Amino acid sequence: MALTEKQTQELHSTIERRRAALLAELREDVERVRTDRFEDLAGPAPDRGDESVASLIADLGHADLGRDVSELRGLDAARTRLADGVYGICADCGGEIGFERLRATPAAVRCVECQRVHEKTYGTTTGSSL
Ligand SMILES: [Zn+2]
Repeated sequence: MALTEKQTQELHSTIERRRAALLAELREDVERVRTDRFEDLAGPAPDRGDESVASLIADLGHADLGRDVSELRGLDAARTRLADGVYGICADCGGEIGFERLRATPAAVRCVECQRVHEKTYGTTTGSSL
């Protein structure tokens, strides 16, 4: 079953809410990281947007922040897919991901089956491959 208009709208607002919350969280965390450690570690602050924030966080080894950043990237990609009208379609098999899975994991790019195969093949931990 393809997603209905109503389901798409619900997922859209889920993505937006989650994204706003993550951004707020990340902004706070990055501020804290900058204040605490950045000056010591990295010299002049790069300010080139998300990418530099992401690598800064990665460099500092903040696993929790890294997870937030990949979730944020996943949500951004999900927004793009929504705008392109291909949201909810499995990237691997082209089948439908399913509303329940999307509601639980709005940034999911694969259906449950393909995700399982992917994780088995690449040995990724949950979340990092989104
Ligand atoms: Zn699939």
